[in-house]
Amino acid sequence: MSVLPILRWPDARLSQPCAAFGADMDGVAELAADMLDTMYDAPGRGLAAPQVGVLKRLFVMDVNGKAGPRCPRVFVDPVIEARTDETAFGPEGCLSIPGIQAQVARAVGITLSWRDLDGTARRETLSGFSAICAQHEIDHLDGLVTLDRVSPADRAALEAQYRP
Ligand code: ZN
Repeated sequence: MSVLPILRWPDARLSQPCAAFGADMDGVAELAADMLDTMYDAPGRGLAAPQVGVLKRLFVMDVNGKAGPRCPRVFVDPVIEARTDETAFGPEGCLSIPGIQAQVARAVGITLSWRDLDGTARRETLSGFSAICAQHEIDHLDGLVTLDRVSPADRAALEAQYRP
């Protein structure tokens, strides 16, 4: 297990859609372990594979990540099956855009399907911070960052503050 370098926006690899693992799960367990080490080291509460330069559909999350008992979770090939109509704005940081907090609108709840490291299919309804974090990480898998989710004026202001 090891801590990997985290790519910083505007690295082009953060703007590319990622490929599903599908049946080929080779290396996924080791990658997930390294990503969890990297996330806890940062520290952060979520990390997507493209943030460590791997353009595959995988993210890790621990909503207690910065305090309290660890509760690491791994999501392989996650898909948002449904989202609430209700959305809410909240500040979001990103380990790939250090120092920047963007106000992003997210669905307050989602139904997520994914696979575990052993390939087992899972499905769960998430709300609160878990729902927001999962949407943020899945955006990464689609080549989107928080700056792609704000108005052009907000984006310009945030980019002016950003010191990569
Ligand atoms: Zn991020």
